[in-house]
Amino acid sequence: MNKEWSEKNKKMQTLIGKEAGFSEGIDVLLELRDDLFKQITYIVDSYPADAYYQMPFAGADGYHSKTLIYSMWHIFRIEDIVAHTLIRGDEQVFFSGKWQKKTKSPIITTGNELQGTEIAEFSKKLDVKAVYEYCKAVTESSNELLRSLSYKDLKRKFNEDDRKRVIESKSVSEDESAFWLVDYWCGKDIRGLIKMPFSRHWIMHIEAMCRIKDKLCAQARKGVDPIARCGLSCDHCFSKDWCGGCRTAYNTCSYAICHPDKVCPNASCCIEKGIDGCYECDELEKCDHGFYALGKEVAAIKALALFIRKYGKTELMKTLDKLHREYEFEKVQEILGYDMKKGLKILEDKRS
Ligand code: SF4
Ligand code: SF4
Repeated sequence: MNKEWSEKNKKMQTLIGKEAGFSEGIDVLLELRDDLFKQITYIVDSYPADAYYQMPFAGADGYHSKTLIYSMWHIFRIEDIVAHTLIRGDEQVFFSGKWQKKTKSPIITTGNELQGTEIAEFSKKLDVKAVYEYCKAVTESSNELLRSLSYKDLKRKFNEDDRKRVIESKSVSEDESAFWLVDYWCGKDIRGLIKMPFSRHWIMHIEAMCRIKDKLCAQARKGVDPIARCGLSCDHCFSKDWCGGCRTAYNTCSYAICHPDKVCPNASCCIEKGIDGCYECDELEKCDHGFYALGKEVAAIKALALFIRKYGKTELMKTLDKLHREYEFEKVQEILGYDMKKGLKILEDKRS
């Protein structure tokens, strides 16, 4: 489990266990949920449309065997049902906001009843942006509920009427792979529900989403030129586990995703010029476009591009392999410094 999330979760559980720490515990819970939701936002902001229905771990045992969009659907349908139908006894966000129509979902349930390819088929039908907006609406509504709780509410249990209400909402499939949820939720008190679904359930599914997205990036990079358009080597990059590289649709590097079209401006400039990378461009040395506008900070990357221009990509890969064997570093500037020419010289010395 992600260490930071796991520690926050533990801290929250300990704090809410005592009246004096309850309010702080709820603050920690909201903070944790905020951290986790950022991962979902990052995925929705940066992954291409076909990423949401891929199942790179199909058949595996675990939450990562689903799709990205199914995971989002499932986390927030469950939370909506529990927060509204079970705890508050009022209308779910899903119904009051007419989210079935907006998300284009063929179902109103949690999705537990779907198996194998049904999950992928269901995922293809969903409108990703609308599902994301639904997730946001549920989060806001649940956060309000969590803020309104008092320490004594934690012991609140549920009765047969509550159970009946959940069943009558038809939000849980009668299939045995899903129906157990009703008894599971109704057997817990509010404290138990804070764990599942309001905190741990998020962690488990969002971690699984991270595994799915990283695998999709790795698959996208397979067989693709590992030299990024700017001159960096994706194979040696600290982002390689969660970036598919600027030559694929999974170009999820932090610089690309902060641009409205989610494409690194240096990559688009190369494409417009019809060149393979900035190392083929006459303007490289004085270029201050996109990534290169960061000046000294990226002089080392220009040094890589200059090196490719002189010696080729294979030589660069070999030289970077050598550097990585000898030194421990994340970013090339830690080794090549902040001067383009000096950086090139370091690479040339290492090559010989
Ligand atoms: S951030 Fe750039 S160099 Fe790193 S993996 Fe992504 S495209 Fe490649
Ligand atoms: S102008 Fe700059 S960003 Fe564009 S291809 Fe040339 S070096 Fe790269």
